[in-house]
Amino acid sequence: APSTAAPTLHQTYADALPELSVAFRADVPPDPELQWLNEDLARELGIDPAWLRSEDGLALLTGQIDGTTAQAYAGHQFGTPNSVLGDGRAVLLGDLVDTLGHRRDLHLKGAGRTPFARGGDGKAPLGPMLREAVLGEWLHACGVPTTRALAVLTTGERIAPRQGITPEPGALLVRVAASHLRVGTFEYAAWHLDPGVRRALVDHTIARHHPSADGPLGLLEAVTRAQARLVAQWMLLGLVHGVMNTDNMALSGEGIDYGPVAVLDAHRRGAVFSSIDRGGRYAYGNQPGIALWNLSRFAETLVQRIDEDDPNGAVARATAVLEQYEGWYLEAYADGLARKLGIRAEQSAVLALGEELFALLEEHGLDHTGTFRTLEEGRASELPAGMGAWIARWEALRASSADGSADDRTPARNPLYAPRNLHLDAALRAAHLGDLAPVREMLDAVRAPFTRRPGLEHLEGPGEGGEHFMTFCGT
Ligand code: AMP
Ligand code: MG
Ligand code: MG
Repeated sequence: APSTAAPTLHQTYADALPELSVAFRADVPPDPELQWLNEDLARELGIDPAWLRSEDGLALLTGQIDGTTAQAYAGHQFGTPNSVLGDGRAVLLGDLVDTLGHRRDLHLKGAGRTPFARGGDGKAPLGPMLREAVLGEWLHACGVPTTRALAVLTTGERIAPRQGITPEPGALLVRVAASHLRVGTFEYAAWHLDPGVRRALVDHTIARHHPSADGPLGLLEAVTRAQARLVAQWMLLGLVHGVMNTDNMALSGEGIDYGPVAVLDAHRRGAVFSSIDRGGRYAYGNQPGIALWNLSRFAETLVQRIDEDDPNGAVARATAVLEQYEGWYLEAYADGLARKLGIRAEQSAVLALGEELFALLEEHGLDHTGTFRTLEEGRASELPAGMGAWIARWEALRASSADGSADDRTPARNPLYAPRNLHLDAALRAAHLGDLAPVREMLDAVRAPFTRRPGLEHLEGPGEGGEHFMTFCGT
């Protein structure tokens, strides 16, 4: 049973790597109120949800505890290096070992202006914090590695709006992550810190996330494989991260920082939802390539560690690892696609079928999430006539697949519910006005996304008029 006492938080990261963070205590929120508590996740962490609702629990959730730090990192933002970023508005509360034996970070976003805040106000608006909570729960339910929200609180403040003129409620997001080590952490160390710290950072990251990796080259391989698998799953779900800067890429292989994330309705390779992504660098179809670009920046930080005496040799060995990314990506992507389509076939056949399917979806303006579910539910005849030839090929492949014939007992493989842009946006606007019920309903839907439930029919499709949907926020 989860402990009813305060959890003991450790400062594993700050203890191991003191050069990579600064002490910082979160602002005292004027009137904190718990808006959503992830009780399942609390229990998984070994924390009694009832304790989290107590006064001491609220102190933890608002960062009013000792030992908290803001982490230093650098990053490439939209392709441009920034040598000092860091947690501008967030603190690492500490870490604990959960009931499954995994070390997890507790992190608080919206904590106030840290020494890394630059021009920012240190605040977090309620909408993007709830968006992050919803997206994390959906991805987790879909089996995708992800950071998750433990709690969302309002602070009692009104903060400057990102768009429009209505001040937004200030909020706090308590996030649980395998760690907050990012590509940007390694960039910071490479650009500012001495070899001893950089060696310690490699060792710490290997021990924490990739214990079977052999040295820095092994770490590069493990992170590259993990990111290939992650982005493949995003692509299959139609997820557009929105701001895949190197500071938003976690070395654990979990997705992180979902403030501007959106999910495709109509399938479009060029889909961009984030208002700050003006050039479309992080468009849906660019994500696999961008992940490799980010991994190349990661590799650069490791070259000296791979072989100090032979930089050219080290570059060649790192390059050889990066050259395997595409193969690992395609393997994960084809495996996942075959599962979504209920087929078993050669990778090349799966990829060809997928390429044609997505071209047809784009041509006919068809819904990404909905089409897979329509196929899975045996309603292919409802799809446009222009898809007939493709459907016939798919049916033939399915018939020849050993375990391809889904029957009533096969658990669904394609989500029915997704955080649809219009529905989520409407729920976030209601939350802005003080009504959390629609967000809670959305959370209910996306936390069990495979099973149709009465009362949630209105969340099944994309809704009308979302073609030009945009998100307004950083991560
Ligand atoms: P991201 O949005 O994750 O790409 O964040 C980029 C950088 O801006 C990070 O250093 C963040 O901590 C920082 N940042 C974002 N919003 C704020 C804010 N409101 N106040 C202070 N720093 C911020
Ligand atoms: Mg320090
Ligand atoms: Mg970020």
